[in-house]
Amino acid sequence: MRILTDTHAHTVASDHAYSTVHDYFQIARDKGLQMFSITDHAPTMPDGAHYWHFGNMKVIPRVIDNIAMLRGIEANILEPTGGLDIPDRMMDFLDFAIASFHEPVFAPADKATCTKAVLNTIKEGKCQILGHPGNPNFPLDYEEVIRAAKDANVVLEINNSSFTHSRLGSEPNCRNILELIDRLDWKVSFGSDSHVAYTVGEFGKAIEHAQAIGFPEHRIVNANAPRFLAFLAEHDKPVAQELAEWASQFEKATTT
Ligand SMILES: [Zn+2]
Ligand SMILES: [Zn+2]
Repeated sequence: MRILTDTHAHTVASDHAYSTVHDYFQIARDKGLQMFSITDHAPTMPDGAHYWHFGNMKVIPRVIDNIAMLRGIEANILEPTGGLDIPDRMMDFLDFAIASFHEPVFAPADKATCTKAVLNTIKEGKCQILGHPGNPNFPLDYEEVIRAAKDANVVLEINNSSFTHSRLGSEPNCRNILELIDRLDWKVSFGSDSHVAYTVGEFGKAIEHAQAIGFPEHRIVNANAPRFLAFLAEHDKPVAQELAEWASQFEKATTT
């Protein structure tokens, strides 16, 4: 199983991350990835990027050295009932949004509260990915969340950093999510959640878990660039069209 795009990475625009766009392009190329995504924290996080960061990503070339970069955001699910810290017009500048619980923005809460907040966030219609949903600080009724996500064409993220150094205790939840996704006929994205470019495209632990339960590769929306762009096209994101010609070089090798 090889995952050739990454849907989750932070740059120096989030203070607790340490690489630039330039670093990511270089390392993504060295690793043989097709595409990566910059998804810095929305401004409600104490070290989130300023709104202008998101509005001005259009100055970054779409493709450098045959590596494409998507313009994303990791937005915050807001207390107490959900919804994201993304002003309505901002999504016009972005290719997709990840919706995540973060402790400095949303205090850890019980399952009913967290589930309600996620369901309302999905209903709001701004996010395409639910970020690190395995975090034990924000317990969820996974079956209910997956059904709602599927109805809205939102995927759940399997976050490789949750297995290595963040959100301790996520592992059994992520395993459970993978099993439920397969049973309920839905999809996931794999994100490295890199805070330094060296880990872009690193999904070792996520792949290990997927393989251990026989999770089918076709349920991973970002396994390759054409497939992830097709997913964004379903959300009417113009980037799918902008990168269509570039992505066609990979179509031959792609089975969905
Ligand atoms: Zn996060
Ligand atoms: Zn992140």
